[in-house]
Amino acid sequence: MIDKDKVKTAVNLLLEAIGEDTTREGLIDTPDRISRMYEEIFGGLDMDPKEILSKRFTVKDSEMVVERDITFYSMCEHHLLPFYGKAHVAYVPDGEVLGLSKLARIVEVYARRPQLQERMTNQIADAIFKELKPKGVMVMLEAEHMCMTMRGIKKPGSSTVTVATRGSFVDNESLQSTFYGRVRNFRL
Ligand code: ZN
Repeated sequence: MIDKDKVKTAVNLLLEAIGEDTTREGLIDTPDRISRMYEEIFGGLDMDPKEILSKRFTVKDSEMVVERDITFYSMCEHHLLPFYGKAHVAYVPDGEVLGLSKLARIVEVYARRPQLQERMTNQIADAIFKELKPKGVMVMLEAEHMCMTMRGIKKPGSSTVTVATRGSFVDNESLQSTFYGRVRNFRL
């Protein structure tokens, strides 16, 4: 659980350190606002991926399931600035499927914490592969990083793409291209 008092103290110190007057009207409630906001945006640390993935349904066939364009917001752990974009998650079931909303929730679990996009991609794939035990999993994240766009090299609109494959997707070009085809070309 997040220590809200500690966050408030830290934000106060940070504002003082950059030379701000922490008693002025606009800033007086900022430490409190941030402590409440952090409870939400870092709330993934308290969520249990196992529990989210425990609700399953039995299926006979093993057609690939793709949930694409799952919007996520995370915080880069190097700069504590947001990175955000879309997650596309696919798996080939082996007798069981998840409720579709669970894929979006599992993305949220790993987005809502100080994070690296590469690690988040792998964590989502590993959690599904380990808990659901499907034949294979593939995860792709496309995100814009504020630490790239508002500072440093300043390249707005550029996105970082990361991919993770497990099980039957590993080194399987035809399965991977089916995934890319469903994510990219098929629009309702
Ligand atoms: Zn960063």
